[in-house]
Amino acid sequence: MAKQEDQFKKVLSHAKEYGYVFQSSEIYDGLSAVYDYAQNGVELKKNIRDYWWKAMVQMHENIVGIDASILMHPTTWKASGHVDAFNDPLIDNKDSKKRYRADVLVEDYCLKIEGKIDKEVKKAAKRFGDDFNKEEFLATNGRVLGYQEKIDTILSRLGKSLENEDLADVKLLIEELEIADPLTGSKNWTDVKQFNLMFGTKLGASADTAMDLYLRPETAQGIFVNFLNVQKTGRMKIPFGIAQTGKAFRNEIVARQFIFRMREFEQMEMQFFVKPGTQKEWYDQWKETRLKWHLSLEMGADNYRFHDHEKLAHYADAAADIEFKFPFGFKELEGIHSRTDFDLKAHEEFSGKKLQYFDHEENKNYVPYVVETSIGLDRMFLAVFSNSLQDEELENGTTRTVLKLPAVLAPIKAAILPLVKKDGLPEIARKIVEDLKWDFNVSYDEKDAVGRRYRRQDANGTPFCITVDHDTIENNTVTIRHRDTMEQKRVAISELSAIIKQEVDVRSWLMKM
Ligand code: ATP
Repeated sequence: MAKQEDQFKKVLSHAKEYGYVFQSSEIYDGLSAVYDYAQNGVELKKNIRDYWWKAMVQMHENIVGIDASILMHPTTWKASGHVDAFNDPLIDNKDSKKRYRADVLVEDYCLKIEGKIDKEVKKAAKRFGDDFNKEEFLATNGRVLGYQEKIDTILSRLGKSLENEDLADVKLLIEELEIADPLTGSKNWTDVKQFNLMFGTKLGASADTAMDLYLRPETAQGIFVNFLNVQKTGRMKIPFGIAQTGKAFRNEIVARQFIFRMREFEQMEMQFFVKPGTQKEWYDQWKETRLKWHLSLEMGADNYRFHDHEKLAHYADAAADIEFKFPFGFKELEGIHSRTDFDLKAHEEFSGKKLQYFDHEENKNYVPYVVETSIGLDRMFLAVFSNSLQDEELENGTTRTVLKLPAVLAPIKAAILPLVKKDGLPEIARKIVEDLKWDFNVSYDEKDAVGRRYRRQDANGTPFCITVDHDTIENNTVTIRHRDTMEQKRVAISELSAIIKQEVDVRSWLMKM
C-alpha cells in the first residue's frame, strides 16, 4: 500500500514539475478537485481525444460527431432522471468530520481483500516458477477462493441495498465490516444519506425571472435530444452512432484522487442506436471493440479487466466497466452501457415530440435502443501518464526517470539539440525544427550538457532526441536517440521525417486494433 502511495505521489509531482497538470487557481491555494492542464498536458489530452475520435468517428462510416452545449433546457434533466436520482450515498465520520461515499468505502475494503489475493498469487508464482498457471491457481486455491467469495458476498449485498434504497443496510454493512475512517481510524459514523451531484446555475438577469439550469453531468443527453435532427439531416440508417467529447460537471462528494475524480471533467461518449432486440449483440461487440482500442496503446493487457455491474442504473439492461490498474488499484476507466430505449422514450414523454425511426426494411416506426461507450478523458490521461512514469535502473548503476508515453500520444515528438551553442550548430538545428514542425510538434533545446538534455526529454516523454554535431556540417547527418531503448543511430537529415512518422503515426497504432 505504501509503495502504491509513493508511486501516486511521484505521479502528482511529476505532472506538475514537467508542465502536465496544475492545481486550478493555485495562487489562491487551489479549488478542491479542479485542475488545469499545462503546456504539455494540453497536448497529451488533445492527442488522446484525437486518438479516440479517429477510432470512433473517422474509422466508422456509420458514426458521426456533434458538439452540444453544456447548458440545456432544464426539463432534459427531469426526463433523464438526473434531478430525481443522480445521487451518491454519503456518510460522515462524526469524529474526523470527514465525508465519504459509502459505496466507495465498501469497495475500497474489497480492494484490500483483492490485495491479499494478489499477494497469494505472487507467493505461488515464486514457489512454482515456470510451472505456475495463474488461472488454475485462482480457480482452485482454497484461500484465494475464500477471499473471492467474501468480496462477492459483500459487493452483492451492497448492490442490492443500493438498488432497494436501503441506506440503513449500507450503514450496517460498514459497521459489520468494521470499516474505519481511512484518515483517522475512527468508526463513529453518521447514517447514510443520498446527495444529488448536479451543479445548479441560473439563466437571466433579474432574480424573479431567472430560470434554474444545471451544468450537464454527462454529455449523453445532448446526443439524445439531437437524435432525430442528426438522423434526418445525416440520413443515418440504423444501426448508427453519434459521438461527442466535452465537459461534464459533478458535485462529487469526495474528490481526493487527483484527476481521477474531478468536479469539472471531460467525457468522450458515443451513443449507438440499434434495432430493439439486437442490443445484446451490439453491447458485446462494443465491449470488445473498446477493449481493443485500449490494448492498441500497448500499456499492458494485465492492466485491464472488465467489471460487470451487479447494480444496474435505472436506465440499463446491461452494464460493464473497463477497469484499469491505477496506482491506487483497479478502478473504472470506461463504462459500456446498454441503455435500452429509456432516454428517447423519456424525452418523447416530456417533450411531447416523437423521437422514432422509420425502418424501411421492417416498414414500421420504433424507438431505437441505445448502447453507449463512455470514457473519462481525464481518467484516460491519468491511466496513460501514471502507467508511463517509470524509474529505470541503467547498466552503469545509475537510474533515470522516463515517461514512456505511447509515442502516438506524446506531446512533443522530437527535441532537436545542437551539441554546442556555437560553430553554426544552433542554426542547423533551427532549420531542422522549421522543417519538422509542419508535421510534428517538436522543440528546440540548447541549454546544459547533452546528457542532461536527454534526461530532461526522457522525463518529459519525448520519443526522439535529434542531435546536431560537427559531423552534421560535413555530411548532413545527425544522431537520433530513441527514448525507450536509448539507442542512437546516425541518419541523414532527409530521413528524419519518415523515421518519426513511422513511430508516431496514428494509422500504425490503430491498425493494431
Ligand atoms: P464513478 O463510479 O467512478 O463515479 P460513474 O460510473 O459515475 O463513475 P459514468 O457516469 O459511467 O461514471 O461516466 C463515464 C465515465 O466518465 C467514467 O467511466 C469515468 O471515466 C468518467 N468520470 C465520471 N465521473 C468522473 C469524475 N468525477 N472525474 C473524472 N472522470 C469521471
